[in-house]
Amino acid sequence: MKLDCISKNFGGVKAVSQVSLEIGEGDVLGLIGPNGAGKSTLINLITGLLTPDVGKIFLSNLDITSQKPYQRARLGLARTFQNLRIYPNLSVGQNIEVASISSNYSSRTMNFDLDKIINIFDLEDKIDLASEELSYGHLRRLEIVRALALNPLVLLLDEPAAGMNENETKELSNSLKWVQNNIACAIIVIDHDLKFIMGVCDKITVMNMGEVIASGKPNEISNNKRVKEAYIGH
Ligand code: ADP
Ligand code: MG
Repeated sequence: MKLDCISKNFGGVKAVSQVSLEIGEGDVLGLIGPNGAGKSTLINLITGLLTPDVGKIFLSNLDITSQKPYQRARLGLARTFQNLRIYPNLSVGQNIEVASISSNYSSRTMNFDLDKIINIFDLEDKIDLASEELSYGHLRRLEIVRALALNPLVLLLDEPAAGMNENETKELSNSLKWVQNNIACAIIVIDHDLKFIMGVCDKITVMNMGEVIASGKPNEISNNKRVKEAYIGH
């Protein structure tokens, strides 16, 4: 997937300003930056909830900039939201099924075993439970499994570790590494937990006030002066 200089203004606020980036199969890209940096807006632009004022978005060389969210989902973009969006009245299994039914509209064939993913994300013995009976950590996992059931080319995770304890975050980290090694997709992950981000991502892009201020490997980012200033202020 490739973003070619996309921007989005809200009134006078430059929420996303001239952002370009590219990721491919097997990449795990971390997207970090202070609150209000434009991270969620960027995901909304990629998935089609918002349309950029300028710039273009490509998926497998296809220009998807004017496609609707459901079309982009069928083409291979799957996401989770910063706030949980589970169907509370459906069982765990039914929440996943909704997505796997949708994936039938996609022309891509499923290249992995969904039961294995359910097992990796520790939902196997919870499949018949009402979703509202799940712990918070498992609800977050369910969202990721549901997104993976769409058979994505790009998986976008908006703060998947938010509200998780240290142990849950560690397990999530391991599960995402399993996805990277076993499923042919790219992952973009936003989170505030830098230890988590540094652990799962090969590359990190840092945003501040709508702009990309740094991009590189985790060790390059942690030593970057502009990044330190954006986080600590001066
Ligand atoms: P982040 O996810 O990095 O915390 P956001 O993308 O949510 O940041 O927000 C970036 C900026 O855009 C903020 O200044 C925010 O107030 C503004 N913003 C986001 N969504 C909207 C919207 N729908 N309408 C108006 N302003 C918005
Ligand atoms: Mg956000």
